[in-house]
Amino acid sequence: MGIRIGIDLGTSNSSVAYVNKETSKAEMIKNHYEKTVTPSVLAFLKDGTILYGEDAKELQAQGFANTISFFKRYMGDKNYEVEFEGKVYSARQLSGIFLKKLVEEARKETGEEIEEAVITVPAYFGHKERTATIEAASLAGIKVKQIMNEPTAAALAYGIHGKTSSQTVLIYDLGGGTFDVTVAKIMRDRVTVLGIDGNHRLGGKEWDDAIARWASRQYVKRFGKDFFSDENAMIKLMGDAETVKKKLSCASSASLTIGAGSEKVTYTLTENVFEELTKPLLELTFDCIHRLLKNIGIEWEELSGIILVGGATRMKMVRRYLEEMTEVPILSGINAMEAVAIGAAIKANTDEEGNTINERLLPVPEYKILGAKRVEEAIAHSLGMVSINNQGDKYVNSILIPKNSQIPVSRTKPYLYYTKREENQLEVYLVQGEAVNPLECQIIGKYVVHDIPFLPGSKSVIDISYSYNGNGMVEVSAIQTETRRKLLVTVEEVPKDLDWISMSPQLHKSEEKIPGQRVIYVAIDLSGSMKGRPLLAAKNALYTFVHELNLSYCKVGIIVFADRVKRLLPPTDNLSVLERMIKGICLNYRELGYCNDADPFGMIYNEFDGMTQVEAAFRNAIILTDGMWAYPEQAILAARKCHAADIDVIALGFGQARTGFLRNIASSANLAKFTEMEELTIQFSKIAQEMR
Ligand code: ADP
Ligand code: MG
Repeated sequence: MGIRIGIDLGTSNSSVAYVNKETSKAEMIKNHYEKTVTPSVLAFLKDGTILYGEDAKELQAQGFANTISFFKRYMGDKNYEVEFEGKVYSARQLSGIFLKKLVEEARKETGEEIEEAVITVPAYFGHKERTATIEAASLAGIKVKQIMNEPTAAALAYGIHGKTSSQTVLIYDLGGGTFDVTVAKIMRDRVTVLGIDGNHRLGGKEWDDAIARWASRQYVKRFGKDFFSDENAMIKLMGDAETVKKKLSCASSASLTIGAGSEKVTYTLTENVFEELTKPLLELTFDCIHRLLKNIGIEWEELSGIILVGGATRMKMVRRYLEEMTEVPILSGINAMEAVAIGAAIKANTDEEGNTINERLLPVPEYKILGAKRVEEAIAHSLGMVSINNQGDKYVNSILIPKNSQIPVSRTKPYLYYTKREENQLEVYLVQGEAVNPLECQIIGKYVVHDIPFLPGSKSVIDISYSYNGNGMVEVSAIQTETRRKLLVTVEEVPKDLDWISMSPQLHKSEEKIPGQRVIYVAIDLSGSMKGRPLLAAKNALYTFVHELNLSYCKVGIIVFADRVKRLLPPTDNLSVLERMIKGICLNYRELGYCNDADPFGMIYNEFDGMTQVEAAFRNAIILTDGMWAYPEQAILAARKCHAADIDVIALGFGQARTGFLRNIASSANLAKFTEMEELTIQFSKIAQEMR
């Protein structure tokens, strides 16, 4: 029996941790330099030897050209390759070599075989990068138990402190090449990730670059020439810049020397100038945080602390800036360089529920790893498919699973397919990203459903399920509904030429008869009690709803109400307008008031009253509320007037809403639903399916 380890495979530094059975604690495994952190650097020597870590970094600092670092930035990138001593390596292969060295060293240092590993990745890593990471591990002969997000691992490590009350924390992870921000709720028995954002071109390296530019600008000014063509000098300057940066974390000034001979000159950088030079970089991190909090509907006051992770958070300015910009305390007791590996080690030794693995094999029966909790992870990118928009004139990214959904998650979509006697296959292009234009997203693959059985009458409905698994990787499966047969799905290389995506698709209008137009008004309660998560849940649900409707036959309008009623959007079938509107919904006490004095039925009635039968053959109103209204009797009367005008009213309530009241305002008892906030999306999804 070997040990299960956690590996923080970093862009600049990596580390390994395991759980010590004597102490029940996750601990770092030191390398042969007695250090817990190993630089993610490789050096390829002439004789075929490959050095790594400290030794390779040392050679790099001396200007030895056959060294490589920062390869993690290129994981999953087909175009990235480097050549050393006549051999070509991809980022995946470099990571594989490096991982193998790391694990061999961990084995030597602990004297134990390595059974399995949890490997951490930046939260923003997409399907391709995650896949490349697993492949790298397999090249290194490592069995991967799971891929885990770095900030989540840090949150789990922080959870060791065993606070009993739950707290919402922000994990600020500024590494060598990336910035990741995550908001997570740490509870007694679990860690739940609420949202993720980041910038994967922003890390400590950008601060080094700023120092290098600052020095070389002065040099050019003085000598009228630069030395950028000298690769070795550049590598050295970058190394020196990093040293200056690190020195400034504990001193108020530091110097570096560039040039040679009579053109050698030393510059001194003070803490203040450094901070001034790089303030825009800090502001970029803040933008990310801001966007995330807004996105998930969390206010600064709701955060009980910030966890700093990553070597670059050691810069004095990071702490200072966060303290200046927010009132959220920075949590102590966490080692910014080690937390990720520690969290991964805890995860490696616990099961899905957060229970210690193989308890019975251990000497102490009540053995439980300190800090162990169940982890509920989220995904940083929406999963979408390339599809034709409702106007039929453009290919767009139609989102199947929105970002910040908890994983694993799966969504099934039915496809009407006309089967032929032979060669039946269906193709779907999947993308990750938020942009409407698929070409601005990461196209992750062409998924092909093969050998769809021919059906007499030709028509077949294929259910395709799209999932994010627990590792944040995409999986696709398909079933022919009529035969219940599971179909073969393969992933094909994305063709180089994707120009067709930016062209207008041919209109292949359905041969089916188009049913009458349906108009749906969604009326959303915006009283004070909706603040925060309820509103976010409502928006997410609505977002899913409009995506799942068939907007070729449907238009959706939006009404909001509290003490007053307002029409936010007249009925439209334009998905991007709907998306934008839904995203923008927010509480507005000034305009709408704080309580539920008003009901939306009068406005709904008037809106439909002005429409012809052609414009609105089917009329629906969906009322979403979380509370009791000030004048229920009046509302019920107004609702009945709508029922009488053939407007089907669906009443969805959660929180403080009352079932009896919902029944009264709905057109029939089965159209009244009380639900949990967490179930709103499912409820809306069901309604969309029924309408389809
Ligand atoms: P990664 O997770 O990307 O491998 P790390 O968390 O190891 O990155 O952080 C590496 C970055 O932290 C580098 O840019 C490094 O220069 C910087 N760093 C490390 N120690 C310090 C320090 N004492 N002061 C400032 N920056 C530091
Ligand atoms: Mg890191």
